[in-house]
Amino acid sequence: MLKCTKASTFEDEDKNEIITIINEEIGRFNKTLERGLKILEKMDKPTGKQVFDLYQSYGFPKELTEELLREKGFDFDRKQFDLEFEKHRNLSRTSSAGMFKGGLADHSEQTIKYHTATHLLHQALFDIIGNSVRQEGSHITAERLRFDFTSPTKPTEKMIEKVEQIINKKIKNEIPVSYKIIPKGEALKLGAKSFFREKYPDMVKVYFVGDYSKEFCGGPHVRNTKEIGHIDIYKFEKIGSNLYRIYAK
Ligand SMILES: [Zn+2]
Repeated sequence: MLKCTKASTFEDEDKNEIITIINEEIGRFNKTLERGLKILEKMDKPTGKQVFDLYQSYGFPKELTEELLREKGFDFDRKQFDLEFEKHRNLSRTSSAGMFKGGLADHSEQTIKYHTATHLLHQALFDIIGNSVRQEGSHITAERLRFDFTSPTKPTEKMIEKVEQIINKKIKNEIPVSYKIIPKGEALKLGAKSFFREKYPDMVKVYFVGDYSKEFCGGPHVRNTKEIGHIDIYKFEKIGSNLYRIYAK
C-alpha cells in the first residue's frame, strides 16, 4: 500500500515536471511566433532574403510564413529563399567541418552510419551508466567506430551488453534523425549533449535522434536510424584512469 502511494506520488511529480517543460516550450514558441509576426507585419512585401532571415533568426517556419503572407495577400520570392537556405547550409557545413570534426575519417556512407551510431551509443551509455559519463572523443572510419569516454566506475560487461542492445533497439525502431540551428543557450537548456572541451559559436547545430538523443554536432548523419544496420560492440577496454574505449562495427 505504502509502495503504491509512493509510486503514484512519483508519477505525479514526473507528470508535473513534464507539464512544466511542455508549457515552457509552448511559451517559448509563442514568444518567437509573436516576435516573428510583428516583424512580418511590418514588411510590406518581404523578399526571399527577408523571409530567410526570419527563418534563421527566429526559427520561423517557411510554411507558416508562406501561409501568413498568403493570408495577407502577399507572396515572396521562393527561389531567393531556397538560394539563401542553400548558401547558409553550405556555410554551416564548411564551418562545421572546422569546428565539429567529430572524428570522422571520411564522409563515406558507412562512416556516416557509424557516426550516427555514436549518438545512440553516447545516450545509451548515459541510460545505463548514468550522467557521470563524459565523451572524450571518437574516431570513425568505414571499418569501425571508436568511442572514448570517462566514467568514475568501471562499467561491467553486462552493462556494455545492455548498451549494445539499446543501440540496436533504437536502430530497429526506425527513428528519424533531424537537426536545428539554435542559440547555444537554448541548446544547453534543451539538455543537448555538448563536447565540453569544444568552444561553440553562438548559434549551434543540434542533432536529434527522435526524442532519444540531442547532441551538438556538425554532422553528417543518416536520416533514419534504420539505415545504420546492426551494431556490434566487439571490444571494450580501459585505456587510462577512468577512461574507457569502445569499438563497434
Ligand atoms: Zn553527429
